[in-house]
Amino acid sequence: MTINYLTIFPDMFSVFTGHSIPKRAAEAGLAAFHVYDIRAYTEDKHKRVDDYPFGGGAGMVMMPQPIFDCFKAVEQNTGGKSINIYMSPKGKPLSDAQAKHLSEYDTLNILCGHYEGVDQRVIDHLIDEEISIGDYILTGGELPAMVLTDAVIRYIPGVLGNEASTENESFSDGLLEHPQYTRPADYNGMKVPDVLLSGHHEKINEWRKTESEAITRRMRPDMEKKKRRNNNG
Ligand code: SAM
Repeated sequence: MTINYLTIFPDMFSVFTGHSIPKRAAEAGLAAFHVYDIRAYTEDKHKRVDDYPFGGGAGMVMMPQPIFDCFKAVEQNTGGKSINIYMSPKGKPLSDAQAKHLSEYDTLNILCGHYEGVDQRVIDHLIDEEISIGDYILTGGELPAMVLTDAVIRYIPGVLGNEASTENESFSDGLLEHPQYTRPADYNGMKVPDVLLSGHHEKINEWRKTESEAITRRMRPDMEKKKRRNNNG
C-alpha cells in the first residue's frame, strides 16, 4: 500500500513512519509513505497557503490552488485502487470496520487540514471521503492522519508479526478485549487469576469471554446493546 500525505507540516510524519509497526511495514515493502508539502505548490509569492474566509468570520481557510496542485503531484504516486481522504471533524467517525475496509486499497491520499479547514471546492472536487477521529477539534489533520494510518496498516497481511493479533482485539467481534496478564504470576501480592495458570484452554476461553462481556457492559453499553440486537437478527 502507498500512503501519500498532503500537509503543511511534513516533518511531523518522520517520527511516526520511522518507528514501530509503520517502520517495519515500510522496511518489509508492505507500505510506502510519501509526504507532500502543500506549501511547495503555492503560487503565492509569500508562500502563503491560507486566506481570509469569504463572508467574514474568525480564522483562515486553506486556499484551493496549492492543494489542487499538490494533488496533481501526488498522482505520480497513485496507483491501483485509490481513495482521496480529508481528515475532518465533520467526517464519518473512524471505526475498526472502516480501517479494515481501507486496508484493501492500494493507495490512500490523505489531506491534512489546518486553520479553519480547507476551501469547500477542494472537498467537492477532490475528496472521496471525509474521516473524523472523534468528536473534538484538533489543531491540524496530521495526528488524525497518523491515527488512521496506524489503524489501517495493522490490517495489511504480514504487517503484524502474528496474524491472529487483529482477530481477537477489542471491536473485532463487537466486544472489548478481556484483561491481559504477564509474568510474574504474583507481583507484590497482586495475583493473576488462577484460571489463567490452569492450562485448561476451555476454561480460559470461557473466562475470557465472560470478562469481555462484563467489561463491554461496564464501559460500552452501546456496543453491548448493538451486539444483542445483531444476535437477535
Ligand atoms: N473549523 C473546523 C470545524 O469546525 O469543523 C475545524 C478545523 S481544525 C482546527 C483544523 C484541521 O484539523 C481540520 O481541517 C482537520 O484536517 C483537522 N482535524 C481537527 N479535528 C479533527 C478530528 N476530530 N478528526 C479529523 N481531523 C481533524
